[in-house]
Amino acid sequence: MLVATLFYRGLTATNNFSYILSVSYNHLGVNIAMAILEVLHFPDPRLRNKAILVEEIGPDIKEIAENMLVTMYSENGIGLAATQVNIQKRIVVIDLSEEKNEPLILINPEITKLEGSESMREGCLSVPDYYDIVERAENIEYCHKTLENKLVTTNADGLLAVCIQHEIDHLDGKLFIDYLSPLKRQRLKKKIDKQEKVQQNLL
Ligand SMILES: [Zn+2]
Repeated sequence: MLVATLFYRGLTATNNFSYILSVSYNHLGVNIAMAILEVLHFPDPRLRNKAILVEEIGPDIKEIAENMLVTMYSENGIGLAATQVNIQKRIVVIDLSEEKNEPLILINPEITKLEGSESMREGCLSVPDYYDIVERAENIEYCHKTLENKLVTTNADGLLAVCIQHEIDHLDGKLFIDYLSPLKRQRLKKKIDKQEKVQQNLL
């Protein structure tokens, strides 16, 4: 369990984050100030950026990973890609555990084998309040670097396999709604346009 005290800093929209967390413990065992980052929402064009490979895993990458974890937990997500918080680096965080205490940090993740197919209902922190069925590979083999700079090759199936495919898509500028039929995408766009109009009227 993350123990944190929240301080609102009243930062402007030009800043990348809105909160600073003062922590007595953090997930990676490193003593850094943690921040909840702003998650970009569709149709923000920055979600279409392609992330670049992390060349050196230093304290800056550890800080990004930690902030991504804190952001993902605060939004009740199970996965987050750096592209979603406007960081163009190939970093993904995932935690499928009930207790939210089994973080998986993937640096430069890459799928090396895809097998079978499975349809699962997906959602995304960048497309709030929308869920739909997407067909993806059922079993995958993938490799990634750890924060300790170790190269790991492993397998995944079920929800983890779906989650890894969904997050790596983000790093390539792709969203799960890109897999939907044109009709469904059109309906979603209408829904978002309507929400935007309501919000504009509220401002
Ligand atoms: Zn997503």
